Amino acid sequence: MEKKDIKSLTLAELKTEMEEMGQKPFRAKQLYEWMHRKLARGFDEMTNLPLAMREQCGVSYTYTALPIVAVQESAVDGTKKYLFALEDGNVVESVWMRYKHGNSVCISSQVGCRMGCRFCASTIDGLVRNLTPAEMLDQIYAITRETGERVSNVVVMGSGEPLDNYENLLRFLTLLTDENGLHISQRSVTVSTCGLVPKMRELAQEKLQITLALSLHAATDEKRREIMPIADRYSLAELMEVCGDYFAQTGRRITFEYSLVRDVNDTREDAETLAALIRGMNCHVNLIPVNPVRERAYVQSDRRAVEAFAETLQRKGVNATVRRELGRDIDGACGQLRRRFLEDGKRADT
Ligand code: SAH
Repeated sequence: MEKKDIKSLTLAELKTEMEEMGQKPFRAKQLYEWMHRKLARGFDEMTNLPLAMREQCGVSYTYTALPIVAVQESAVDGTKKYLFALEDGNVVESVWMRYKHGNSVCISSQVGCRMGCRFCASTIDGLVRNLTPAEMLDQIYAITRETGERVSNVVVMGSGEPLDNYENLLRFLTLLTDENGLHISQRSVTVSTCGLVPKMRELAQEKLQITLALSLHAATDEKRREIMPIADRYSLAELMEVCGDYFAQTGRRITFEYSLVRDVNDTREDAETLAALIRGMNCHVNLIPVNPVRERAYVQSDRRAVEAFAETLQRKGVNATVRRELGRDIDGACGQLRRRFLEDGKRADT
């Protein structure tokens, strides 16, 4: 039988497991606390558990604790990018950012991605596999251990499409926000999607208090189809409808992500079309100059164009901010560090 991944189990499931193992019920709580509060790296650290029990757990379960393969720290703003090794030799990356209101971690949800957005480095070689709930969690745990500082915000905006890994994402969110674990507030969690409409609808039904971010990047279907293949499947009209639904179900304002690409989506007309599309919605627009990826021809909009774009939106009554670019000097954009690593011919298991 395949071993269960113990860090992906809820406390209730762990209680059942311990019962079946013939352990006292309170052992489940202790185990859970070691994994999700004290962030133990393995059973051998759980010193108040009987040795026999720890050994039995080692036989029955796998334990996810991601080793750090590389860390890059930005000399400009202190942002850190981590590359982690997975059990099977794959690698994933995460970013740690320090903001005035606390530390934020951006995690990956898949190895690679199959969405094919033209400007994105994560998708170049397609999807390798989904991450488990524990592999998503441990990116945060490992960074907390390494920095010694509490993480207050989590954004699922690294490599991968989180809604393409829906079940694992939900389990991850449950564990991350559980009062017996790190207990990160749902309101401090953002999940970003390129726009998988049926999954967005399902997520709305969960009535979580997390922020849903939609990667829009264009204000007409035609233009969006040029840069995001997913736009062939779902129209902007459907997306706007499901965003309205998300707000109605949760009361949470939607975030629209808009990466500005020079001469592609950054003109005044683009800004006006965008304003007309989303005016009146409870939303916020995050503008970010596209991060040039070596394999892609897209060029960043210049500072003036970005500011003018934001001003046009604001004049039309749309909330918009230009996101501070962090980690520019350390391959900050999705999938860049992993790509660099793979290109260098290194493997996590050598
Ligand atoms: N798949 C999800 C989450 C991962 S991408 C999504 O599409 O939202 C996180 C955000 O970074 C998305 O808005 C994505 O479009 C954007 N992004 C990816 N590559 C980028 C790049 N090179 N420059 C700027 N933004 C980029």
